[in-house]
Amino acid sequence: MKYHDGHVHFFPPPLKNAIDRWFATAGWNIYYRRQQANELLQGLREGGADQISVLVYAHKPGMAESLNAWLYDFGNLHQGLHLFGTVHPDDKNLDVLVQHFLDDWNFDGFKIHANVQQVSVDDPRLAPVMNGVVERKRGLVIHAGREPHVNAFVGWRPFARLMARYPELKVQVAHLGFDEMNEFVAMSRDYPYLYFDTAAIGSPRFAVPTQRLQKIFETIPDRIIYGSDVPILEESAADHRNRLLHMITDPELRDNIFLKNAEQFWTR
Ligand SMILES: [Zn+2]
Repeated sequence: MKYHDGHVHFFPPPLKNAIDRWFATAGWNIYYRRQQANELLQGLREGGADQISVLVYAHKPGMAESLNAWLYDFGNLHQGLHLFGTVHPDDKNLDVLVQHFLDDWNFDGFKIHANVQQVSVDDPRLAPVMNGVVERKRGLVIHAGREPHVNAFVGWRPFARLMARYPELKVQVAHLGFDEMNEFVAMSRDYPYLYFDTAAIGSPRFAVPTQRLQKIFETIPDRIIYGSDVPILEESAADHRNRLLHMITDPELRDNIFLKNAEQFWTR
């Protein structure tokens, strides 16, 4: 089956290895340990993924430029990749950087990881990012939920304040806002460009009752984007995808979630 994957992480090998170690220490049994970007991409292609959102994130200031340069080079080597770069709130000249990544490197947008980057999404330091994507109709993939750990920066409240400030913002909320899905999904009524992805959702660590997921999918059929979260999964992408496919039997809804909604999100 041909599909799009709206949530995949590729990193340079040293960073990927460090992330593998971090999750191993945290007790995760990562299925894609020691697999690097080329191999991961090949596996996704063999499973039917043709267009893919690739997300990176910087956990400290000063590394966005080199990480994004790696992403840009990788994107130039392969077809069908939508690049979501990173910036850190403490990067110097953030407005210049944002402009550079969006205009010179034509990124689709940015990934913001409130949890790993230790930043509230409504932090005013991120204003250049918000203004940069809104002006160009690009998007953000935002991880604002409380996994893999709870800290002062995450949760739906800062996200609600962000959306109130930028109602035109095009956002894909990672992991359906786990574990506050009701609060996040309710905001879709107020904001026309608010999307949600299924990354890792339904897998054993992020189990959600099938009927609850089906209800969400049916309530906002044009806002759900299939995403796997490869390689941060404890099962294969195929197992994760097949579980979701079993829940989504309506052909039109499948078409939306596995193809059309991502295309809508990528449209500038
Ligand atoms: Zn992810």
